Amino acid sequence: MLYGTASLTNTVAIVGPVPESARWEGSATFMADRITPEQRSAIMSRIRSKDTHPEIVVRRTLHTMGFRFRLHVRSLPGCPDIILPKHSVVVQIRGCFWHLHRCKKGRLPKTNKGYWLPKLKGNKARDIENDRKLRRLGWKVRTIWECELERMEARELRSRLRGLLI
Ligand SMILES: [Zn+2]
Repeated sequence: MLYGTASLTNTVAIVGPVPESARWEGSATFMADRITPEQRSAIMSRIRSKDTHPEIVVRRTLHTMGFRFRLHVRSLPGCPDIILPKHSVVVQIRGCFWHLHRCKKGRLPKTNKGYWLPKLKGNKARDIENDRKLRRLGWKVRTIWECELERMEARELRSRLRGLLI
C-alpha cells in the first residue's frame, strides 16, 4: 500500500492512501515504506508537477498539427500549461482529481476528507480566479480534462484542439 505525504510549504502531513487518480500529477509527493529504490523511482517518475502525461499528449498533438505554443508561462496568472499567443488561447490541461472535476476521477478520497477537501477546493478556487484573470488580460481560456483525453482517439483530439483554437 502506498501512503502519501503532501508538502504544504514547510509542513509535511501524513494523509493516508493516495487515490490512483491522484498519482499522475502532483503538488504532492509520495513516500512508501519498504519498497525498493527501483520501485521508488518508478513511483516518483509518475509524480511530476509538470510534463505530466496528458499534457504531453496535447503538446505532441498540437506540434504535429503545426501550431506554435509556449509552455508554463510564469508571467501569466497561474503559470498556464500551454499558450498559443497567435490565437490568444490558453489551454489548461487539468487533472480530474487535483482540480476537482465533476466526474468519477474527481471524487474525493473516502479517507482524510478533512485534509483533501480544503486542499482540492483551494485548487479549484485558484483555477477559477486564474482563468478569470487570464480572460481579463484578453486570453481565451480552454480547459481539457484528463478524463476527456483518456476517452479521445487521436483524431478526435485533433478536431477538439482545432475547435478550441477558433
Ligand atoms: Zn474528469
